[in-house]
Amino acid sequence: MKRERERERERMEEERVIIVGAGPSGLSTAACLKKHSIPYIILEREECYGSLWKKYAYERVELHLRKHFCQLPHMPFPPSYPPYVPKNQFLQYLDHYVSHFQITPLYRRTVERAQYDHASHTWMVQARNLDSSQLEDYSSSFLVVATGETCDPFVPPLPGFPSFPGNLLHSTAFTSAHPFRNHRVLVVGSGNSAMEISLDLLNHGAQTSILVRSPVHILSREMVNLGLFLLKYLSLSTVDSLMVILSKMVYGDVTKNGLSRPKEGPFYMKVKYGKYPVIDVGTYQKIKSRQLKVLPAEIECVRGKDVLFKNGELHPFDSIVFCTGFKRSTNKWLKGDDYMLNDDGLPKQSYPIHWKGNNGLYCVGLSRRGLYGAAADAENIANDVQHNISLRSENKLD
Ligand SMILES: Cc1cc2nc3c(=O)[nH]c(=O)nc-3n(C[C@H](O)[C@H](O)[C@H](O)COP(=O)(O)OP(=O)(O)OC[C@H]3O[C@@H](n4cnc5c(N)ncnc54)[C@H](O)[C@@H]3O)c2cc1C
Repeated sequence: MKRERERERERMEEERVIIVGAGPSGLSTAACLKKHSIPYIILEREECYGSLWKKYAYERVELHLRKHFCQLPHMPFPPSYPPYVPKNQFLQYLDHYVSHFQITPLYRRTVERAQYDHASHTWMVQARNLDSSQLEDYSSSFLVVATGETCDPFVPPLPGFPSFPGNLLHSTAFTSAHPFRNHRVLVVGSGNSAMEISLDLLNHGAQTSILVRSPVHILSREMVNLGLFLLKYLSLSTVDSLMVILSKMVYGDVTKNGLSRPKEGPFYMKVKYGKYPVIDVGTYQKIKSRQLKVLPAEIECVRGKDVLFKNGELHPFDSIVFCTGFKRSTNKWLKGDDYMLNDDGLPKQSYPIHWKGNNGLYCVGLSRRGLYGAAADAENIANDVQHNISLRSENKLD
């Protein structure tokens, strides 16, 4: 009996799963694997889980979607939480999640290489231990990429920017608007981070301008919730048409205020390009009242503190905040996968079959469906790993 238990333990060790990344997606996967009693390890480059939320999200941020769309598998948000969960409470929820499922990631391990070894049917993973600087070897039957859609902050190259004498920062480095009081700040970007950071800056006494580089859909929280509800019953194009009508009724002709609406609908753009509509929490009123200045979209160059725009306007700034998105560097470390992820680290296969690759490779949280999508991926992955382990042990018994 003891021997059998030992053999079972050895088999499970062989079959363990390596998860790369301890964000909400990696934690969700860990919890789902735990439910199946499947052993796993998490390799995380930072010194904490949920680093995006703990270290790189601004203080006033709240989940953009209502809480029931954002909960991780097997643990709902407490009923006392507000419908739109603020950062601090989301972090408390993550703390509770991690302690409940006894998740203990290996921190300060940056995965630098992962390759499938066909001879041993094993993923060979190398991670840099950031404390010792040594490369460590790990192996497993299954590998889960949980490195996030927002892995590497992206700032577009622009002539003259390196010589800008003021503060130049990406949105991930913006934690609070307090230090910017009385500063002239340019916010570059047209997504939710750009709109919310602009509002925050204005509310803290910064003279704020925003450079909106592409057309945007502006929806209220209520419209988004209605849309998400209607998507269960109506086609995406019908819901999108309704969203645009409602947006026009509430926000009117946005071109009068220096913005424009895209030709494609808001939910279509979310699914196709991963671009969220702007969920307005008060910024549009500031644009309308001209407290938040919308600047022409094209920058020619930067000369000292002055930014020269292509239409000839010149504006001086003390700080520039880039809300210009992210890239993913998965293809630098994941070798030999030409099926699951594209060069930009996003799934090649369309939803709902995007999460599964070949040879026990999976991805979670990369389908541009937020935490809701990550939770579904995590459950699918754990079920599939369980299924594969059962098949393998049946084959071994035969
Ligand atoms: C301000 C903001 C608000 C958001 N609001 C919502 C919302 O309301 N609802 C919603 O559904 N979604 C929301 N999102 C989107 C998304 O759900 C979150 O970004 C979420 O954190 C994604 O979780 P993740 O685990 O996939 O990625 P991340 O949280 O980015 O975690 C990935 C982890 O992988 C680690 N990692 C990366 N590369 C390596 C490597 N090579 N080796 C080891 N570790 C590595 C990173 O350090 C990180 O800890 C929001 C995002 C932001 C930025």
